[in-house]
Amino acid sequence: MQNRKVVLTGDRPTGPLHLGHYVGSLANRVLLQDTYLQYVMLADVQALTDNFDDPEKVRQQVLEVALDYLAVGIDPQKSIIFIQSMIPEIAELTIFYLNLVTVNRLKRNPTVKTEIAQKGFGESLTAGFLMYPVSQAADITIVKAQLVPVGEDQLPMIEQTNEITRKFNTLYQADVFPEVSALIPKVARLVGTDGKAKMSKSLGNAIYLSDDADTVVKKVMAMYTDPNHIKISDPGKVEGNPVFMFLDAFDPDIAKVQELKDHYARGGLGDVVLKKYLAQVLNTFLEPIRVRRRDFARDKGEVMRIVRAGTMATREIAGKTMQEVKEAMKIAYW
Ligand code: ATP
Ligand code: MG
Repeated sequence: MQNRKVVLTGDRPTGPLHLGHYVGSLANRVLLQDTYLQYVMLADVQALTDNFDDPEKVRQQVLEVALDYLAVGIDPQKSIIFIQSMIPEIAELTIFYLNLVTVNRLKRNPTVKTEIAQKGFGESLTAGFLMYPVSQAADITIVKAQLVPVGEDQLPMIEQTNEITRKFNTLYQADVFPEVSALIPKVARLVGTDGKAKMSKSLGNAIYLSDDADTVVKKVMAMYTDPNHIKISDPGKVEGNPVFMFLDAFDPDIAKVQELKDHYARGGLGDVVLKKYLAQVLNTFLEPIRVRRRDFARDKGEVMRIVRAGTMATREIAGKTMQEVKEAMKIAYW
């Protein structure tokens, strides 16, 4: 444990985890936990920014997301899982960071801009939502993370984080925070089952890690493909076809995928046959995850004990970081 180089934290999925999360960050997290000291955050404070009127839902999600992480292979012996709201130092650091970023800069953040449009906030946009990149910067830096595995849509958040901590280090003439880099996966972004740019729970186009086999079959059979591929004999479009993007991301048999692509492009391969194959590939991938999920779900008390231990460990390092922050800011009074 001691030799592991860098800490990771920082991305903050809020709801049940889906295949997009897997491609974007979970796969890397599972790999990195052997060589890095990894922090994994259950982002309940973030979830409250657009669910503040439904705290019960947020509370339930904490356990569900913890189960998803454990099911996918985050090993509590190697990684530290913690609850965001139980680390008050994150909120404290956020307050100090807020002086170092302008409202205009937050409004220009491309990820936030897209989300504001997508969620249709309009005039009801809260200050809490607008400033969530600042709180994200705080949860990345409270453990001094240097590497954060995220999907490409999170790049603006990492940039924003570095802007804030550079400013902090310069202004207070202290070397408190290291630069943080994003680790972006090969498949930078997984499309939704509807072919839309991003699989996302808010767009209703997600396949969840906790979906049962029948649900996966149903979702795949309803998937968007090439709308001009009408007769089986018609040549189909592979480029931009979500079915092939999913196969590229989840089928270990690369030769077989190439063969299917060639066949589809030539004509003679029907969507139904192709989708049945994809459903099978996804279910093969998801089955061991479901089994582990069921195992952990049998003892929810144990899951909460894991999360509690991780939270305590995080508080310890968070307290140390805050002490350094306050010393740098000359507000460590005793
Ligand atoms: P959703 O967008 O489904 O409501 P969320 O808001 O809870 O989920 P995000 O913050 O969007 O979660 O994503 C958490 C992590 O997963 C980020 O690193 C993000 O880049 C990655 N991610 C999410 N969806 C996708 C996707 N479709 N493809 C690749 N990476 C993704
Ligand atoms: Mg999101």
